[in-house]
Amino acid sequence: LFITVEGPEGAGKTTVLNKLGNELKQQGLNIVMTREPGGIRIAEQIRKVILDKSNTEMDARTEALLYAAARRQHLIEKVIPALNQGAIVLCDRFIDSSLAYQGVARELGIEEVFSINKFAIQDVMPDLTIYFDIDVELGLKRIEVNKGREVNRLDLEKMDFHMNVRNGFRKLLELFPSRIYEVDASKPLENVYQEVKNKVEQLIYK
Ligand code: C5P
Ligand code: MG
Repeated sequence: LFITVEGPEGAGKTTVLNKLGNELKQQGLNIVMTREPGGIRIAEQIRKVILDKSNTEMDARTEALLYAAARRQHLIEKVIPALNQGAIVLCDRFIDSSLAYQGVARELGIEEVFSINKFAIQDVMPDLTIYFDIDVELGLKRIEVNKGREVNRLDLEKMDFHMNVRNGFRKLLELFPSRIYEVDASKPLENVYQEVKNKVEQLIYK
């Protein structure tokens, strides 16, 4: 099973995913936790280039291609081998982030960004995607509190950009209703965690 979590900044994706992964491991399941962009050496290197806050001249298409390249390498090196060994892969962000950030917020178009990603992923799509929906301001406020987090190029974007990202994700909910499951991430993290856990366990133990 390939399960991804998606959503805007400060929604609690990483926190909930780590907790869930540890819980499922305790249940004796073969769990691989990973993240995008990154997860393996080459993709972490690409991540550094994309998110470097001094790379302000980066073109939107270049950005989209770099995300797709990082995705490709991560998929080939880590995700697909794990799935082939029967693991459950929990991935922090995947194609939907590209569709929302580069497709909608950077205005490249969902179709265009989807097409370069089709080249990169060759039909390997998640079985389930959990979308963490949160008010943009609330999400950004949570990030401010989380001092350990690295500052990246996206943190320099204006409020409008982040609103468009959220609108992008909401559009994806309409386009892929059977794959994407929405949770209200403005609730306390413990509630969000329980809801995500229930949904994922339903799929695993069905
Ligand atoms: O989720 P994480 O904090 O690791 O994401 C790193 C940064 O990359 C975030 O600021 C996120 O908004 C950005 N990002 C992006 N386009 C993507 C994926 C992530 O702008 N396709
Ligand atoms: Mg995160």
